Amino acid sequence: DQMREAQRALETPLFSGLPGDIEVSFEFFPPKTEKMGETLWHAVETLKPLGPRFASVTYGAGGSTRERTHQQVVRIQNEAGIPAAAHLTCVEATREEVDEVARHYWEEGIRHIVALRGDPPDGSGNYTPHPGGYANAVELITGLKKIADFEISVAAYPEVHPDSPDAQADIANLKAKFDAGATRAITQFFFDPQCFFRFRDEAARAGIEGEIVPGIMPVLSFAAVQRMSGLCGTAIPSWMEGLFEGLDDRPEARQLVSATIAAELCRRLYAGGVRQFHFYTLNRAELSYAICHMLGLRPKA
Ligand code: FAD
Repeated sequence: DQMREAQRALETPLFSGLPGDIEVSFEFFPPKTEKMGETLWHAVETLKPLGPRFASVTYGAGGSTRERTHQQVVRIQNEAGIPAAAHLTCVEATREEVDEVARHYWEEGIRHIVALRGDPPDGSGNYTPHPGGYANAVELITGLKKIADFEISVAAYPEVHPDSPDAQADIANLKAKFDAGATRAITQFFFDPQCFFRFRDEAARAGIEGEIVPGIMPVLSFAAVQRMSGLCGTAIPSWMEGLFEGLDDRPEARQLVSATIAAELCRRLYAGGVRQFHFYTLNRAELSYAICHMLGLRPKA
């Protein structure tokens, strides 16, 4: 039995064996200060040589980052030369206001929108659409497609969106987003590869043919991930807390542990046929870079 175990261990593909036949994209958030702006730009320049197919910039609650998101999206595309995608939500805005933001992007040469409903800006439980606004992501996509032929990415939830009555309704909503014109879905972060595979199977059974790209969240701060998980319904495996125990004051050791966990998740997703990965970079380059490297990606000439 021990021989068989050892044999199986040897057959497990190592990172060194991965050919890097993957496509990646990176997500950033708009910086609040000049210092944070420098951190963001350092991350963009570090990750750029990996040849991402796009980089996206998030949109703050209630459109609070409208200008800053716009600025970074345009800069990433024009100065770094990476095709950029702008996140856009329906929160606290009329249809006309949202349309205006989108039209402005199109005029600036931005062709890709990550179309989202968004969350209540005060963090309160129930989402209430703006009376003159788009009620949800499906309506937003329909509106955007009337403005111009944007490439559209949307959000998907392997562990079911908290507002959804059940998993089936959530998949039906995702299907409606594709039917309205989305070309890809990016998932909420998750830590259990099985949960992604189950979701991918269910989506296929529901007739969804578009890309479903796993969103990979490297753990920078375990406390922050715990907080976010509570809000978005992502399960944290019981072993994870133990792995980060005692590392609060050891950022470097924590990064190594984080990279190992994320790389292992990606390796298993790869083994299950996944070839596209989206990284929540949190504006830090090193973790995402290391994981891409272990997946076999190397700087393009
Ligand atoms: P929708 O798909 O419109 O709906 C969310 C859920 O509500 C659905 O799953 C469905 O169950 C239910 N629902 C909605 N409409 C109906 C209906 N008519 N009938 C039945 N059920 C319905 N937030 C930001 O503020 N800024 C960002 O930049 C941002 N980027 C994100 C990027 C990614 C990749 C992901 C996964 C999330 C992001 N979010 C962002 C968070 C997102 O705004 C929230 O998760 C929000 O609560 C839902 O947005 P959605 O576009 O998925 O909503």
